[in-house]
Amino acid sequence: MTQPRSRSAAASGRGRPPGGEVVLDGLGVSPGVAIGPAHRHEAGEVPVPEHAVPAAGIDDELARFRAAVDAALRQIAKLKQRGARLPAAAGEEIGFLLDAHAQMLSGSRLVRGVEARIATARTNAEAAVQQETSSIAKAFAAMDDSYLAARVADVRDVGGRLLRNLTRTTFRAFSDLAEGTIVVAEDITPADTALMDPERIAAFACVAGGMEGHTAIMARSLGLPAVLGAAGLMEVAAPGDMVVVDGSAGRVVVRPEPATLAAYEEKRAAFLRAERQLRRLARLPAVTRDGIPVALHANLELPRDADLAMQHGAAGIGLLRSEFMFMNRDDLPGEDEQYAALARAVTALGGRPATIRTLDAGGEKLPAALRATVAPGPNPALGLRAIRLALREPVLLETQLAAILRAAVHGPVRILLPMISHLHEIQQVRAVLARVERRLLRRGVALAEPRPPLGVMIEVPGAALAADSLARACDFFAIGTNDLTMYTLAIDRGDEQVAHLYTPLHPAVLRLIQFTTEAALRNRIPVSLCGEMAGDPRYTALLLGLGIRELSMAPIKIARIKNRVRGIDLAAAALRAQAIMGQSDPGRIAALLDDFNALA
Ligand code: PEP
Ligand code: MG
Repeated sequence: MTQPRSRSAAASGRGRPPGGEVVLDGLGVSPGVAIGPAHRHEAGEVPVPEHAVPAAGIDDELARFRAAVDAALRQIAKLKQRGARLPAAAGEEIGFLLDAHAQMLSGSRLVRGVEARIATARTNAEAAVQQETSSIAKAFAAMDDSYLAARVADVRDVGGRLLRNLTRTTFRAFSDLAEGTIVVAEDITPADTALMDPERIAAFACVAGGMEGHTAIMARSLGLPAVLGAAGLMEVAAPGDMVVVDGSAGRVVVRPEPATLAAYEEKRAAFLRAERQLRRLARLPAVTRDGIPVALHANLELPRDADLAMQHGAAGIGLLRSEFMFMNRDDLPGEDEQYAALARAVTALGGRPATIRTLDAGGEKLPAALRATVAPGPNPALGLRAIRLALREPVLLETQLAAILRAAVHGPVRILLPMISHLHEIQQVRAVLARVERRLLRRGVALAEPRPPLGVMIEVPGAALAADSLARACDFFAIGTNDLTMYTLAIDRGDEQVAHLYTPLHPAVLRLIQFTTEAALRNRIPVSLCGEMAGDPRYTALLLGLGIRELSMAPIKIARIKNRVRGIDLAAAALRAQAIMGQSDPGRIAALLDDFNALA
């Protein structure tokens, strides 16, 4: 994050004019551009009186605290009712959050801690609430766990609510703001965000906040452009100042110069045009001109992007790369933490399927916690990675499978295994899965009926060539053309020096895709393709022509691929695919494909 800088000062050469344009960089947590007058949202630091309570007054003080807790629970119930009127994903998000807040007020550590401070230390209720929330927040922050770090904001939010109730400080809502207002603040809590009406508030920006927090998630699900972490914002933005919030680039401009304003007006118009187009396409079905439906799914790196996938019209998640939960930390995530993240994504899909891939790590992508037990091999791409690593570290696999099985009660889930090359790897995973199920049932955990299907990535040439036997042992295939191309052509997908030789249009790669697809069809199991190829409209006709009916890609690519699908005549595409499969030169294949694409 950069310090505020004045553009106009530099441009005019007249020194820093008070009130000139100021550009601030922060985190663009929710895309879109908004321009409007600033409203400074003052959280209103509640003054906290501090005094000792006489022994005779302890019962009254406890009663006063309990009344504040009851009032907070009523306020939360009311907020929940309002939340139910928000767009589906936002409503669900705020619902989870408010449930967590209500739990913190029901016999929790917070309530017990405050009561103990009043009863034994004879601290007044306000000071007891402040001391207890600070102590819990400190303990959570010290645990160096991103999940608990996000909970710190919740503890503070609940503490703030109790303090307002105790001191009878009223909360300033956003309902009386003029349409098009931009809210700027030191901090905006997720509960504040729930009170924002996207019809009235154009965007918000604040100094605090991170990409992972609930405020960011809420902004995305409400479709409100937002920038968090804009250091210096409250020093430069006065009430009524014209403000630009560019949630796509993570930038806030206070008092823009006419030229800046014109550029952002243009950017806003372009964003709205693209959004309209996207919305129009998101509502239209992905069917070919001759009426064959194609399922377009999303590849996700972070479960929190499930909402984004829905906005782009994804029919589900075709590939959730679970690596995110294991990176940038020194320990391994436990079952509960994994379950919480996965359950959130599954729930956000509202009944659409989620394909969750088990850990695809190893080599240079080895989580820090495993570095002591896994020795680096001579060739990471061919070494102890993905399913091989998981089977060598059964606790890792068992924990992950338990979390996935538990998440499956929230919606349809499929389990996907990365880098399978042997039949016995699937059989070994089935044995682990059965063990994990038995353990969960013994713990009294409810499991989804029927159990999630178990599928495999086809991304190793040997697996593609053995597709018939693998198809008989698993429930679905997902073709990973990124690795399949790399392993088939022996070209590292990350090595620039040989990048010119890396092409999925090599006839060997295409034959493996075709062979895998036909094996799946012969064995009556679903097959999808989730490599980068799926998100490139140049290849769509060829893949459909080869028999693929399910593609999974980055959410942002779905609209373009849908557009392409809707322009394709499948009978013609199948004929062209046949002609292409008779070729041996990637250049000739590319020409035949481009020629077909230009016609259709
Ligand atoms: C692939 O290999 O094509 C794939 C989808 O998996 P990843 O890119 O995560 O290796
Ligand atoms: Mg892969």
